[in-house]
Amino acid sequence: MTYQSVNPYTREILESYKTITDRELFKSLNKAEFAFNKWSQTRFSDRAQLLNNAADLLEKEKMKHAGIITSEMGKPIRQSIAEVEKCAWLCKYYAQHGENYLRPIEIKSTAKKSQVWFEPTGIIFAVMPWNFPYWQVFRFIVPNLVAGNTGLLKHASNVPRCGIAIEDLFNRSGAADGIFMNLFIDYKQAETIISHYAVSGVTLTGSNSAGYKIAELAGKYGKKSVLELGGSDPYIVFESADVEKSAETAVMARFQNNGQSCIAAKRFFIQDTVFDAFLDLFKKAVWKIKTGDPMDPDTLIGPIAREDLLNELLGQIKEIKESGGEVITGGKTLHPDSTILEPTIIINLAADSKVLEQELFGPIIPIFKFHSEEEVIHMANNTPYGLGASVWTTDTWQSSRVAARLTTGMVTINSMVKSEPSLPFGGVKASGYGRELSEFGIREFMNIKTVSYN
Ligand code: NAP
Repeated sequence: MTYQSVNPYTREILESYKTITDRELFKSLNKAEFAFNKWSQTRFSDRAQLLNNAADLLEKEKMKHAGIITSEMGKPIRQSIAEVEKCAWLCKYYAQHGENYLRPIEIKSTAKKSQVWFEPTGIIFAVMPWNFPYWQVFRFIVPNLVAGNTGLLKHASNVPRCGIAIEDLFNRSGAADGIFMNLFIDYKQAETIISHYAVSGVTLTGSNSAGYKIAELAGKYGKKSVLELGGSDPYIVFESADVEKSAETAVMARFQNNGQSCIAAKRFFIQDTVFDAFLDLFKKAVWKIKTGDPMDPDTLIGPIAREDLLNELLGQIKEIKESGGEVITGGKTLHPDSTILEPTIIINLAADSKVLEQELFGPIIPIFKFHSEEEVIHMANNTPYGLGASVWTTDTWQSSRVAARLTTGMVTINSMVKSEPSLPFGGVKASGYGRELSEFGIREFMNIKTVSYN
């Protein structure tokens, strides 16, 4: 197995890296264990200092890091810059609030006094995807470092330069040797890591097939796991909504990251009374989208990250057409040799089509018409996934009623689903389990220790 950096827009091979040997892996594990023993004893102020340094470096070097992201996986450059800035925000957030989340909590009990302490547990192993190649890694490592845990990263094999650059960034921020390491390992070596006694947890962000394999290994070795998997988020527009704003926001909700975001809106449900108006506005917005070189700051849609993923999307479009879906824009690449998929609007597809059981991980937008609130709740929940949902209505009772009945981990009213450091992030059903970010995320891999004084 090799880790290969290929520019998805130019198809140029930028660099290849061999996986490490088992001997090198054992050396890294020893180093990580030694590092955990020291890091877990550090004061919060030392941990916060590291994160503040990392944030400063990210801000200073954002163009460099954004360039690495865009060249490896094709994200439009403005969005890559925003991703790097968001990582800096996360570092600062936990540097500021982390200590509060770790304070002992007093609990009334039959003892004289009872407390809950939050203690580090060990090395956390992260298996991460290519689509937000910085953000996903920061989302795992930052709260864990604050908590006194340490991290080992197996990044996706198409973004090796991102993995190297993040490790280097932490080293230059003053990270103690071994508290965060990027490792070029194969799948078998992932099991070796999970089985190691000093590794206390594993977190995977990625596809369901990868997630279930890693969770199986976590189960085999009795390790705590967190899974952040795929999504098929509904975007529901009721007739009372600001239709113009909902159509305008739908562009970023669906096309962010070339359509390759777990929390992208992937199924659009529009109430019949405003369906035509929405579709008209949305089509006009789509026609204005600039597709092309992701390094061009005006580009909104660039290449699909890998050729195999592009072929998968073209296969799904074929399946959609065979299931009765009508393609009204796009449906093909910009030109026969291009890796850019045109924004593809689909109408007249049955909301319970088999093809919708899969995640549409690209700029494909199936739009459905609904009549009643009851009907749309059923349509929106009719998916194996349960990550996020966006609901557009000016009726506040309706927004709470619908939010309560959607089987997802997150619901956003009158905007698109977004993540931010203070809010718990994660899904239910086939979208995984556990939470990242906020005070809930930091506690996932901690020992929640009960101490009772009698
Ligand atoms: P992927 O193909 O599942 O890969 C994710 C990671 O898992 C990569 O590092 C991959 O390594 C590794 N992997 C795959 N099979 C493995 C195995 N048997 N043992 C060990 N490692 C294994 O997913 P992706 O294409 O990178 O990412 C896209 C998916 O991630 C989408 O489904 C998206 O919705 C989901 N995602 C979810 C969230 C969330 O928070 N819920 C966020 C972002 C993305 P290799 O690259 O070497 O195969």
